[in-house]
Amino acid sequence: MANDKKNINDNKPKFSPYWIYGIMIALFLGFQLFNNGTSQDASATTPSDFFKFLEAGDVEKVDIIKNTRVAKVYLTAEAEAKDIHKKSKPTSFLPSTTKMPNYQFEFGDLQNFENQVNEITKDLPKKPVVKFDTETDNWGSLLMGLLPFILLIGVWIYIMRRMAGGAGGGAGGQIFNIGKSKAKLFDQNTEVKTTFKDVAGLEGAKEEVQEIVDFLKFPEKYTKLGGKIPKGALLVGPPGTGKTLLARAVAGEAKVPFFSLSGSDFVEMFVGVGASRVRDLFKQAKEKSPSIIFIDEIDAIGRARGKNAMSGSNDERENTLNQLLTEMDGFGTNTNVIVLAATNRADILDTALMRAGRFDRQIFVDLPDVRERKEIFEVHLRPLKKDEDLDLDFLSKQTPGFSGADIANVCNEAALIAARQGKESVDKQDFLDAVDRIIGGLEKKNKIVTPSEKRAVAFHEAGHAVVSWMLEHAAPLVKVTIVPRGRSLGAAWYLPEERLIVHPEQMLDEMCAALGGRAAEKVIFNKISTGALSDLEKVTKQARAMVTIYGLSEKVGNLTYYDSSGQNEYGFTKPYSEQTAELIDKEISDIIETQYKRAIALLEEHKDKLTELAEVLLEKEVIFKDNLELIFGKRAFEKEVTETPES
Ligand code: ADP
Repeated sequence: MANDKKNINDNKPKFSPYWIYGIMIALFLGFQLFNNGTSQDASATTPSDFFKFLEAGDVEKVDIIKNTRVAKVYLTAEAEAKDIHKKSKPTSFLPSTTKMPNYQFEFGDLQNFENQVNEITKDLPKKPVVKFDTETDNWGSLLMGLLPFILLIGVWIYIMRRMAGGAGGGAGGQIFNIGKSKAKLFDQNTEVKTTFKDVAGLEGAKEEVQEIVDFLKFPEKYTKLGGKIPKGALLVGPPGTGKTLLARAVAGEAKVPFFSLSGSDFVEMFVGVGASRVRDLFKQAKEKSPSIIFIDEIDAIGRARGKNAMSGSNDERENTLNQLLTEMDGFGTNTNVIVLAATNRADILDTALMRAGRFDRQIFVDLPDVRERKEIFEVHLRPLKKDEDLDLDFLSKQTPGFSGADIANVCNEAALIAARQGKESVDKQDFLDAVDRIIGGLEKKNKIVTPSEKRAVAFHEAGHAVVSWMLEHAAPLVKVTIVPRGRSLGAAWYLPEERLIVHPEQMLDEMCAALGGRAAEKVIFNKISTGALSDLEKVTKQARAMVTIYGLSEKVGNLTYYDSSGQNEYGFTKPYSEQTAELIDKEISDIIETQYKRAIALLEEHKDKLTELAEVLLEKEVIFKDNLELIFGKRAFEKEVTETPES
């Protein structure tokens, strides 16, 4: 029935309110044209001819238009019948009650013309009527009259378009579409090229989403035994780890309609729009079921409700979230709509959203480990022309803490660097340069650094290197450089161990190594500088985390002031008393000072080696682990980094 109606409508041209304006303007212009057109129809003539007609007594009336200096000549009925005037007979499309002029011409000076006319008509038995007139320019005044209206209508249409344009999607972008969902639909007709093969690593996550695809394809397999198909799955993990990629792969593999949108697409400047878009989205998805809805960055609407009671501004977001909650619970399991969502802030999501029955499953998509990084490299190296003997293991070991997106970026940068140097293929050095560039920014070889500053930087970096070499738990060093890069003047690069649980000794050793730079300046020059800002920032944050988050301080005790629900994010009050605040500050400062003293003691002891290393660094600008081994011998605590975890 609904379809029939639609067809009928389709055959008729669509009515639009703009038509009325069009018709009105056309009518108006038409009238003006025909009314005004008379003057154009009069034949042109010259003043001398006119005087002849006048003398012959053919003229009945002359209209002298003063402002345009045109004379309009009306002939008598008898004269019109004459041969010479045959052609001048005016024709008109419209029946007209007023007589129209037969001739018109331009006269020169009005006074002269008038005198001549008087001269000739003086002796005529039947004097023609001479009338003076002024004529306004009809077109001009019409335009001037209409202009404000045209402008007003134009501006109004523009604003309407802009407002409705935000809603996008629907036909013509009308204002009425604003409550429609902005989801992009992928189905059999849209080609999605991403498949699970393009997603490297993430085995667990892949398995879970693959199962979701399975649910939709063969629901009976699961419902046969009485199980219910889950309604939603939440992909959680740091940015760039491939959550969106995974969802795209689901769209490519599932072969069911896939609605994709971002949490912020629900947000609009009008109240109630978000909720209405949620309703519309689910309506569309249900019509096409089985289908998948994917909401990226769901934290834009899924933030915990009611913690920001002071400003009413998030009411709209709450309404949207409430609607989402209702919709997810509202449809029966048999509707076969599965909601996938991605976020990197699962901790701030509303608990109602995460309860079973809505997003029953949480799929963790973590930063890749060394083996997964290798697989990701393999995926992104596929399109590159690379050196035959490129060592993937080496590359993946050089990129700890990199996400999939970072690795994709490294591969691209490396290709660009190689191309810049006119190479035939991308080699290992290009990759290393790309990694350096992504971590540290662009090299600035021409930055002006005075020799004494350079010396200070060399000792600072050598200080980091020496301290980290001597401490058991500090991360192994990769290289030290004093080439200015981005905003830093030098850097020591480590290969951090990938730990899941960190012990206090490890944190303290790392802090001690971070303070090694400033300690070296103190030991060698007996003065400190501003160069240690980023080290201090890192150390302070770490110490604060030890005391207030991980409960690693003995004096403060096994307490944490971390709130995973995010309820206190905007709170003005601290969850501890003034005394505790003082204690915390004291503990933080104690931890840092102890480590600083430890670094100084270490460097005093190895002052000669520190100086030796700094001299090498000044000479070579970049030194690697091997250079350190030459000075210090093999590192005592060196552990073999396991290449592949046991399977
Ligand atoms: P997010 O988790 O922030 O949604 P994306 O899925 O948008 O991250 O990932 C960004 C890009 O990083 C992808 O387009 C892809 O090129 C790359 N990438 C991330 N993870 C992987 C992975 N596991 N395998 C292959 N490429 C990946």
